[in-house]
Amino acid sequence: MRISRQATVRDKPSGRPFGSRYVLAQPVAGALEQVFAEPVAEVIVIEHSRYALVHRGMRATTRPNRILLAISGAEFAADAELLLHEYFHVLRQWRTGRLTRWRYLIESLRYGYWANCYEREARDFAAAALERYRGCLRDLSLRGPHSLG
Ligand SMILES: [Zn+2]
Repeated sequence: MRISRQATVRDKPSGRPFGSRYVLAQPVAGALEQVFAEPVAEVIVIEHSRYALVHRGMRATTRPNRILLAISGAEFAADAELLLHEYFHVLRQWRTGRLTRWRYLIESLRYGYWANCYEREARDFAAAALERYRGCLRDLSLRGPHSLG
């Protein structure tokens, strides 16, 4: 399963209008699963997404079960706060049905990007979970790939 996903990522990026799929390294996915206490493997991450690039100045945008990146997957994975922020949108807002495109639009029109409730929640969560995430990531990285699971 892991091998076939990596094969997708190797596809020629210029020929793929919707970017290419990026698969998180195992320690990163494992640390996210510990912080969110649920599986993250189903969440599809697309790097260099043209759709995300349309949102000027944004590094990432989310859809149900999907994170669209304007940047590379490696840059995304290296930014713990951004990672937690975007997974929060997907796992705790889209997946629970609290976030819909319509609600987000209404909130944003009323309060703007920075102050809307979905962004505030995601920022607060990321800030609060950052140390825990880093600790989990450190532990999982130290343990190495053979002792995972
Ligand atoms: Zn956000």
